[in-house]
Amino acid sequence: MRDVIDRANDIAQLELDNLIAKRKVYTGKSSLYCCECGEPIPEARREAVPGCSLCFDCQQLEELKNVGRGRKMNV
Ligand SMILES: [Zn+2]
Repeated sequence: MRDVIDRANDIAQLELDNLIAKRKVYTGKSSLYCCECGEPIPEARREAVPGCSLCFDCQQLEELKNVGRGRKMNV
């Protein structure tokens, strides 16, 4: 029984490692203005989400569109 649990844990860890490896990491300079609506992106958001190009509202809309496609949230 212990072997089965160990094996399940190994598989879960592998899947977790794969998800972390595939995770999109945003780096670089954030946009001053939203690429969608043109509104200024607050400095706090630009610092919290490095490399962001959308304002909070547009990012949420974008991610809602992607929810059904199995993509990850990045708000
Ligand atoms: Zn926007």
